[in-house]
Amino acid sequence: MGKVIAVANQKGGVGKTTTCVNLAASLAATKRRVLLIDLDPQGNATMGSGIDKYEVENTAYELLVEEKSFEEVVCRDTNGKYDLIAGNGDVTAAEIKLMEFFAREIRLRNALAPIKDDYDFIFIDCPPSLNMLTVNAMSAADSVLVPMQCEYYALEGLTALMDTISKLGSMVNPGLHIEGILRTMYDPRNRLSNDVSDQLKQHFGEKVYRTVIPRNVRLAEAPSFGAPAMYYDKSSAGAKAYLALAGEIIRRAEQLDLAEQD
Ligand code: ADP
Ligand code: MG
Repeated sequence: MGKVIAVANQKGGVGKTTTCVNLAASLAATKRRVLLIDLDPQGNATMGSGIDKYEVENTAYELLVEEKSFEEVVCRDTNGKYDLIAGNGDVTAAEIKLMEFFAREIRLRNALAPIKDDYDFIFIDCPPSLNMLTVNAMSAADSVLVPMQCEYYALEGLTALMDTISKLGSMVNPGLHIEGILRTMYDPRNRLSNDVSDQLKQHFGEKVYRTVIPRNVRLAEAPSFGAPAMYYDKSSAGAKAYLALAGEIIRRAEQLDLAEQD
């Protein structure tokens, strides 16, 4: 199978990294082979997986710029039971160095090609901007998962993201599509959240995941423990929500497979 999913939203603080770490762990817990790639220089997904971003020897920089082999760069079996390509401040340098290369948009796609089918799911945690790293993520990806908070300006930002996805699609990656839209940090008691959520469903229909991620303090605490929430407090609402999301994603993928066989 080897499905590559970029987790992107140019807005910061919407739950991209939290989604990457917890969804990757949830899918790994169902015996899927999962790889997470941290393309954000902040290295939050790396720390949240229990890998010290200040100590780690190789990162996405070595993969993208120095062309070190995947085998040299990958961190096996992190605290979330998935494999990780780490990210840290060096990845900022990668963004600049990439500009020097021919075919700079497809460096990541080329680097992943030999190992893509060793995994069931590959998630790419994107930085909060539409830069060359995000372009590399979207060129390597089959689809884009968009986490969003249901607040007033969210829909506006989403339109800009959709434009980028369709432009990139026509330029470097014709098959690129929206994997799903995920409502994060959701508070059902907030009327605005409900309104925005309704509008989302009107615009994007079935693309909006049924699973909603609630605001849950355990999800915010888990990174300081260096592990996904399910290994910190498995009965927490946050951990359960990401397990439910993993189930929804697996069911969707199976339905697609069935439809393609018909
Ligand atoms: P992004 O990667 O989009 O910048 P993060 O995943 O880092 O966003 O989330 C931003 C902040 O919100 C972090 O401090 C994170 O721990 C917290 N957070 C994310 N999702 C939730 C949630 N569902 N409930 C509570 N806090 C959350
Ligand atoms: Mg992040």
